[in-house]
Amino acid sequence: MDRKIINIGVLAHVDAGKTTLTESLLFLGGVIKNIGNVDKGTSQTDFLDIEKQRGISIRSATATFVWENVQINLIDTPGHIDFSADIERSIRILDAAILIISAVEGVQAHTENIWMALQTNKIPTIIFINKIDQTGADTLRIIDEIKIDITSKIAILQQSINEGNKTADVKTIWDNDNICEDVVETIANNNDAILEKYLNEETLSFDELNNELTLAVSNFRIIPVMMGSAKNMVGVSDLLNSIVHYLPGATGNQNNKLSALVYKIDHNKKFGKAVGIKLYDGKINTKDIVVNKTQNIEEKINKIARYNAGKFTDINTVTTGDIAVVFGLNNAKVGDIIGTGKNIPGEVKLESPLLTVQVRANNKSDYPALTEALTILSTEDPALEFEWFRENKELHIKIMGWIQIQVLEKTLEQRFGIATKFDDPTIIYKETPKKTAVGFARYWMPKPCWAIIKLKIEPGEPGSGVIYNSIVSVNDIQKKYQNEVERTIEKALKQGPKGWEVTDLKITLIEGEDHTVHSNPGDFIIATPMAVMNGLLACDTKFLEPIMWFRIVAPEELLGAITSDIINMRGTFESPIINNGKFTIEGTVPMATSLDFPVKLSSRSGGRAKIKTRFHSYQECPNEFGVTTPYKGISPVDEAKYILKARKAITEGINSKF
Ligand code: GDP
Repeated sequence: MDRKIINIGVLAHVDAGKTTLTESLLFLGGVIKNIGNVDKGTSQTDFLDIEKQRGISIRSATATFVWENVQINLIDTPGHIDFSADIERSIRILDAAILIISAVEGVQAHTENIWMALQTNKIPTIIFINKIDQTGADTLRIIDEIKIDITSKIAILQQSINEGNKTADVKTIWDNDNICEDVVETIANNNDAILEKYLNEETLSFDELNNELTLAVSNFRIIPVMMGSAKNMVGVSDLLNSIVHYLPGATGNQNNKLSALVYKIDHNKKFGKAVGIKLYDGKINTKDIVVNKTQNIEEKINKIARYNAGKFTDINTVTTGDIAVVFGLNNAKVGDIIGTGKNIPGEVKLESPLLTVQVRANNKSDYPALTEALTILSTEDPALEFEWFRENKELHIKIMGWIQIQVLEKTLEQRFGIATKFDDPTIIYKETPKKTAVGFARYWMPKPCWAIIKLKIEPGEPGSGVIYNSIVSVNDIQKKYQNEVERTIEKALKQGPKGWEVTDLKITLIEGEDHTVHSNPGDFIIATPMAVMNGLLACDTKFLEPIMWFRIVAPEELLGAITSDIINMRGTFESPIINNGKFTIEGTVPMATSLDFPVKLSSRSGGRAKIKTRFHSYQECPNEFGVTTPYKGISPVDEAKYILKARKAITEGINSKF
């Protein structure tokens, strides 16, 4: 690396000011000549039509500029909770992050989600309190919220002046002439040598303290807090100075063998598949042939470009630490590793979809094109899970929320020319065995075939997932056949007797038999789902449903009404804390009963009550509230039909399809 490169993400709850701050940074960085206006839909990083209409950033867009000889690759991440899959991917490639919090709205539930992901990955972060000029801005209150909801390990480097006013400004409290005692204390609490000097009242120079602060920031031990008004360009250049001084750059060595990660795929009308990569080692030149390690294939790089606020600029080489868009990797999927895979951090998981929705093509003949379009979209977004059930002629997609449905609907229409209609989404339930039982399958007709298995199925601990074991000797069932049983279990548990994924259970292969002449591996692939379903019916299953955590802050006089709402929704809560005419209450509530609760709460309180929610866990759901969904495809219960179809699939070599 010739100079320090920082791949930095701007993260925030929707409306906190990501787009506006990104634009102000790009303007100062010289990338754009005019400040766009998100309110008029002309901003540089929101480039999809739908984003413009909605005024939110959906796709991560990048821009590059240099500040004090440091190359900053700015990654504008999506703000809405529905798009957290995109955030997961962006976080994985970040060297550092800016977390924006509005000085008016404060810490939101999604801010906490993002924080958790940053924390899991120890991504060095600066918090930027935005909108200090807006009426109602209250940085002291926001700092309290940060301490309670985010982290207490903060170093506040600025103070606001004329808060809540157009003339709002910031003043530094951390430089050679202004050494803020609170910051010194935070630093001292992080370093024993400094703490000793501090307690002995020895002189500590600003440089000594500031070096320690820089180290603590890059180790995720201290989070600097800055503030300003992105809209009025207040505090933005200070923020840039802090980014280059306190945040660490990318690591790696350009003389090593290539190691890169595909983190994003876009479709470019002119050049085709645009693959966003980050290099963790080595370099790539145009015309290089590279190895896609994940897929074990070689592909040629036809073109390398830098993507800058809506425009591609060709570059011939991309080196360690940098990101680029490459063309030619036509089989690449998001998450693929190019080269050795050295230095690449592990995957980040935020939230998985809790809703499922059926999509219908307005024109029946569009179904093949629709599945094709969704296949393309799922290579761009691995979190997009969809399934086509041939027997039922139904296409189902797992989703995070309403906005994602609207975006998919528009993308399908605008990019692929397919008109669709989405049904109302339903909750994704799961199921788990009620008691221990045995499942049996004897698949020995029509010959040639032979697979006999007996599985013991037991309830597992909540959250334990699926635990599989075999106590059968390889003399009874050869190892290669036992391997097929183990491999097929996961697929067999995709749909239980109630139609949902089965989880939190122990399965043990306890008896069985193969046949030296008649058995084939495929026979065990066919027999396993039969034995699993047979066992699950004998165990009987109960529903599990997604439970949301919530925190409500509302005027005291609404306490009775709100707690009775929570009880009516089958929720539970801890004793409320009353303070200054307001109460705070935390608890859990089923997602199924609370989908429209935020809207209801807002109208009940005339907008004075605030609610935060996030996914908590899957928990047992009383049988009368669970919803059974029909089995998609042919159930192993329907033995003759199932065998016929499964055999056909195996002989055609498409066993993964059933
Ligand atoms: P995003 O959803 O996080 O990308 O937020 P935007 O950048 O689109 O901003 C949301 C709204 O807040 C817009 O109406 C902006 O004009 C406004 N906004 C952003 N930054 C500031 C600021 O510093 N001060 C004030 N008063 N408004 C701001």
